[in-house]
Amino acid sequence: MRDEPNDWESRAEANSFYGFTDLPSVRRRGTVVVTHGEGPYIFDTRGRRYLDANSGLWNMVAGFDNPKLAEAAKAQYDRLPGYHAFFGRMSDQTVMLSERLIEVSPFERGRVFYTNSGSEANDTLVKMLWFLNAAEGRPEKRKILTRVNGYHGVTVVASSMTGKAYNSVFGLPLPGFVHLTCPHYWREGRLDESEAEFTARMAAELEETISLEGAETIAAFVAEPVMGAGGVIPPSEGYFQAIAPVLQRHGIPLVADEVICGFGRTGEAWGCQTYDFMPDAIIASKAMTAGYFPMGAVILGPELADRLQAASDAIEEFPHGFTASGHPVGCAVSLAAIELILDDGLLENVRRLTPRFEAGLAELARKPNIGEWRGKGLMGALEAVADKENRTPFASELSVSERIANTCTDHGLICRPLGQSVVLCPPFIMTDAQMDEMFEKLEGALDQVFNEVA
Ligand SMILES: *Cc1c(COP(=O)(O)O)cnc(C)c1O
Repeated sequence: MRDEPNDWESRAEANSFYGFTDLPSVRRRGTVVVTHGEGPYIFDTRGRRYLDANSGLWNMVAGFDNPKLAEAAKAQYDRLPGYHAFFGRMSDQTVMLSERLIEVSPFERGRVFYTNSGSEANDTLVKMLWFLNAAEGRPEKRKILTRVNGYHGVTVVASSMTGKAYNSVFGLPLPGFVHLTCPHYWREGRLDESEAEFTARMAAELEETISLEGAETIAAFVAEPVMGAGGVIPPSEGYFQAIAPVLQRHGIPLVADEVICGFGRTGEAWGCQTYDFMPDAIIASKAMTAGYFPMGAVILGPELADRLQAASDAIEEFPHGFTASGHPVGCAVSLAAIELILDDGLLENVRRLTPRFEAGLAELARKPNIGEWRGKGLMGALEAVADKENRTPFASELSVSERIANTCTDHGLICRPLGQSVVLCPPFIMTDAQMDEMFEKLEGALDQVFNEVA
């Protein structure tokens, strides 16, 4: 690998700082330096081709060379390459995107606020709630409830919302961020507990937490419809139907973090539609621009929109915003992405491919070292286990999921290790043949690694 003294890998390592990267592994294997893409494939500086079964980071749902998205960006760069949304000015593209987002949202009306990322959208939502609660005379209504394994981003508030142990190295979460149990029946369900009983226990835990903390101190409950970066964890049966009434009874908004689920990933436009619940607000990003521009949004439903408007009117502004909020190029790209997904057949292809995807996962889950498969729409995971019956994980020193993902990479397939599971999140443009290629390569890697470790 390290044959040339000034190769791409060494140059990458010399000058770039890596986030969310296993450093011993990258030092041993070298960085994959990506040059271009074609459909669902990426190519590196060594001319190797990889089928990216993770859509980049869940976001490149239209693949890596979509002409409509590139055209939309180019046309907007020629017309108005950048503008802000402060001081009573905003681009025409921003106006059109907000109309479109409300139209495709589950809300009959509402308001949109733009950010550059999902993390910033979560931080923005929390600031909105802190601001409007204070304006309404309830400054103590600030706590945020989320779940263990929930992923909400990396800014300080979004990290505090995220239910992952790794944030302890930053001294996070901040006080006032409370993490409930992950609603993963296979892992968290007790012996002899039915799935319905498990769901009821999750709702009871929420009820207890609210009475312990005090409803008057809780600003919101924020949840991904399907947990993504926590390992692709769909909620237990009936979960949202069980918790939504509890929140409603206590006057606590339910916010759907749709950064992964939004725009078709689960087979409906929104994850909350797949799971049949009505949130008070939606957090969007990732597929919103099909990954062709960094952008996120908070979409407030009618009630929160009205309350935020009233709070803002009271002091004559909402003192928040990013320089690039509502960037015209991002908005033009997002309008094109939404059209591709909802009108030009990408969502349809998600639905068409889902049975094939599920069948492929279920087939691999028959292996003795796969404990379960799980997923919804085109997001899925296989959980590796040392002992299937007792659901015993492999020793963590074996880094089994990391080895599987590395072996896949060697065979030209990109998938992602998460805990002891391997995650697949294919782009919406995949063909049947590409999906078959994905499963063949994954099966080869699973067999190779389980032969070595089991
Ligand atoms: C990726 C993600 C975020 C954070 O988005 P960034 O753009 O990386 O800041 C937030 N919530 C969910 C559910 C995500 O998957």
